[in-house]
Amino acid sequence: MTTRGRTVGIIGAGVGGLVCARELADNGFDVKVFDKGRGVGGRTATRRAEPDFTFDHGAQYFTARDARFQKVTADWQSRGVVAEWLGRVVRLENGVVTETSPQPRYVGVPGMTAMAADLASAIRVQTRTQVVAMSRGPSGWTINTDTQENVGPFDALVVTLPAPQSAELLQPHAFGTIASTFQMTPCWAVLVAFESRVEVPWGGAFVHGSPLSWVARNSSKPGRSGQSDCWVLHASPEWSVAHLEATPDTAARELLDAFSSAIAERLPPDSHLTAHRWRYSHGSDADDRQMLFDPEVGLAVCGDWLAGGRVEGAFLSGVAAAEAIYDSKGLKLGESGF
Ligand SMILES: Cc1cc2nc3c(=O)[nH]c(=O)nc-3n(C[C@H](O)[C@H](O)[C@H](O)COP(=O)(O)OP(=O)(O)OC[C@H]3O[C@@H](n4cnc5c(N)ncnc54)[C@H](O)[C@@H]3O)c2cc1C
Repeated sequence: MTTRGRTVGIIGAGVGGLVCARELADNGFDVKVFDKGRGVGGRTATRRAEPDFTFDHGAQYFTARDARFQKVTADWQSRGVVAEWLGRVVRLENGVVTETSPQPRYVGVPGMTAMAADLASAIRVQTRTQVVAMSRGPSGWTINTDTQENVGPFDALVVTLPAPQSAELLQPHAFGTIASTFQMTPCWAVLVAFESRVEVPWGGAFVHGSPLSWVARNSSKPGRSGQSDCWVLHASPEWSVAHLEATPDTAARELLDAFSSAIAERLPPDSHLTAHRWRYSHGSDADDRQMLFDPEVGLAVCGDWLAGGRVEGAFLSGVAAAEAIYDSKGLKLGESGF
């Protein structure tokens, strides 16, 4: 099938960008994805450390409420890409534990990058490539990378970055102004393994009245190999803003103390301790535009921030952007569509 008029460049290989890429590639478009990271997944991230530690330091789990996302989740589950996390998730305030309402919570297996890896398996993705500028000429879009490459032309371009990063790239297009009005908060994440088990009878907790907002025993999730007691601790947005320029070491130690206070227990010695700062973690306002599309110039913008946040929002936004692009070509979604 000819791909004349159907070349698409996609900036960002998180769930939103990859879903959009996959949807277009499955419908006969010639798609190429660029990401500045070492791998795919964006904020659905997993970090490994010797000897047997794994940490999902971004998204912790996902839920599926939309029928299309439920269908994809069921397919992933049947192929072992995701599994339901049956760990007990509680609310924790000043050492007092209360139950949260039960709901299916899914995680990638063996880590949260599994969904992105699955989506990326049949498309061209160029990692370690930061896009620094984009421009449109008579033959289409060209992007400039930090490795001094000019790539293109593409008939359409899709920008899938967190709002503040999208705003920088999109200016002077009006979508840049829309993106610039959307605030996103940072999140400090601590990745810690203990020499012996932390004795609490739950796998994850939403924490209140603390510098922390969430803690989880990563090793309680399904399919995590190794025996070590690995935990991920997330600081609250307020703490993360106030300590934005802290060193990882200082952030890790302070948040470890907060963990001990939150569970009112002394912690075992740690055998691995690092911290990661997510500069753009969650959106502060809800936005449900789903995506932005300018058919005049073939420019789409998608990502979680346009669809209520979270992994499911990124998925729905990516699908919506792909639909807008093939609709603009007068095409009909094929059987393979999400
Ligand atoms: C700490 C934390 C906890 C979370 N917990 C949950 C949770 O429990 N459940 C849930 O559903 N969601 C959670 N989320 C949110 C979820 O991770 C996001 O909603 C979702 O992953 C966003 O996907 P995306 O594709 O829109 O963006 P991203 O995943 O951010 O993808 C954007 C991609 O663009 C790349 N990029 C950025 N700038 C450039 C550039 N100039 N050039 C090239 N590439 C670039 C990035 O490397 C990244 O891979 C959490 C997020 C964080 C950070």
